[in-house]
Amino acid sequence: MTQVFRTVEDLRVSLNEARSQGKSIGFVPTMGALHEGHASLMKKSAAENPVSVLSIFVNPTQFGPNEDLAKYPRTFESDLMHAQRCGITHVFAPTPEEIYPPGWNTYIEVNALTDVLCGKFRPGHFRGVATVVYRLFRIVQPHTAYFGQKDLQQCLVIQKMVKDLELPLKIEICPTVREPDGLAMSSRNRYLSPEERKKAIGIFRALQTVKSWKAKGEKHSSVLVQAAKDTLARMPEFKIQYAEIRDLENLQERPELDRPAAFFVAGYLGNTRLIDNIIL
Ligand code: AMP
Repeated sequence: MTQVFRTVEDLRVSLNEARSQGKSIGFVPTMGALHEGHASLMKKSAAENPVSVLSIFVNPTQFGPNEDLAKYPRTFESDLMHAQRCGITHVFAPTPEEIYPPGWNTYIEVNALTDVLCGKFRPGHFRGVATVVYRLFRIVQPHTAYFGQKDLQQCLVIQKMVKDLELPLKIEICPTVREPDGLAMSSRNRYLSPEERKKAIGIFRALQTVKSWKAKGEKHSSVLVQAAKDTLARMPEFKIQYAEIRDLENLQERPELDRPAAFFVAGYLGNTRLIDNIIL
């Protein structure tokens, strides 16, 4: 049975009871508009914990002034059906005032990791993400929280926050779920026109290019990145923000693949911002 909670207080009462019975709590934070990517996280949480909390909260503090906060898709009824189907026991769908009561003035900043990639193009974004995730962690107090590799930089930022603040929980990073043609599932894909949707597969092709050149023995990041950019150039409508190989731990530049690294790409297809990555 999936129960819906609107207030911190009601959720806390229910979770305290579960905790006192010794049940482990899994947590999947989302902004709703759920798809099979979210479903994979929910199912993993439900498989590993008797109690699974899904939060649905479009977090205003992680959107820039010119971003899509107002038009971000909100599909609560179908989200609830996804949650039920995936074994979620608690859906937490608070108002912004519940998360940020009047007078709220505390923010979490994870430095360095947030200066690059999406951090460079979305100033304040990761400050909003870290703050809301910290707030939600305090409310839910999960044993394990589940995040998607689709947002790899976000995963690294959260992991760093958990490590630095010694938060008592485990972070699980789950593989990116893709459409049959390879496009990473995203709540924002629904903004794409049918033509844009067909073209968007070019991003996945760029990831595959990097992967296959690496498999052939290429170790120089500049060569791999150029190959990816050549592939992306076949989709001139895609306005690249970044296409870079960076260290998987500290997100520093990695001229050679001599340590774990990932290729990250982001850009706009029309008005829709798309991101993707592949671990190398
Ligand atoms: P969002 O609602 O987009 O903020 O995402 C909520 C969580 O779902 C984050 O941990 C995302 O990384 C994860 N997620 C989003 N898309 C996917 C996907 N295609 N595959 C796996 N996880 C995803």
